[in-house]
Amino acid sequence: MAETVFSKIIRGEIPAKIVHDDEQCLAFHDISAQAPVHVLVIPKRPIESLEQLSASDAGLLGHIWTVIPQLARQLGVSESGYRVVVNCGRDGGQSVDHLHFHLLAGRPLKWPPG
Ligand code: AMP
Repeated sequence: MAETVFSKIIRGEIPAKIVHDDEQCLAFHDISAQAPVHVLVIPKRPIESLEQLSASDAGLLGHIWTVIPQLARQLGVSESGYRVVVNCGRDGGQSVDHLHFHLLAGRPLKWPPG
């Protein structure tokens, strides 16, 4: 997998506003926020996209899916609501080839997305 900006954030080589850090994943504010709350949750292990996942990643994914609602509570949006988005591949709008979960909140989000 090619080096990405997220690998550099994991290694602390470029700054990020980190809101969660544990053995398996990291969460930080998106540099180009699309909502008042826009956080990215990423696995520390480099995984390019949803397409690279296998059954052996189930534990990691379960962990990330429990961190996300914890973060929503921490950021004060669990009651107002939020959306979790994973873009996959070019047509899916993925621009950074390191799996990431967008947590978007703080305003009513439109549906369907563009
Ligand atoms: P995606 O388009 O789904 O691949 O999302 C990639 C996201 O990474 C975009 O929302 C970018 O704004 C965000 N991003 C890119 N570089 C950085 C960075 N250095 N720090 C924080 N977020 C970033």
